[in-house]
Amino acid sequence: MEGLTASEIAGFGVGALLVCATIAAQRVDGFVATSQRMSLGMCKRCGDLRIVACPQCKGIGSVRKGGIFTFDILDDVYESLGAERKTSNLVPCTKCRSKGHFFCPECSKAR
Ligand SMILES: [Zn+2]
Ligand SMILES: [Zn+2]
Repeated sequence: MEGLTASEIAGFGVGALLVCATIAAQRVDGFVATSQRMSLGMCKRCGDLRIVACPQCKGIGSVRKGGIFTFDILDDVYESLGAERKTSNLVPCTKCRSKGHFFCPECSKAR
């Protein structure tokens, strides 16, 4: 990375921003296209990604010890307030086997 001028570095920054904008646009596009998927014969649940986020761990792959049975809404409030929680309370999600997602049931049904 020798001989870079400030404008070249700025150019990289703009390029990175453009890449981010492109990715964001694709995501918005995917969101808007949900209704189109059905007419295109795509899976309305996953958009033919064939994977869906785990509802139990919300895609994180781990849940609090005790799972949803000891789930306390106050915990979420404290977390959103920035209170520190022990990550050792987290155990691998059994529902998705800590993958954070599993195969789309709609797709596995159809295929
Ligand atoms: Zn999970
Ligand atoms: Zn699907």
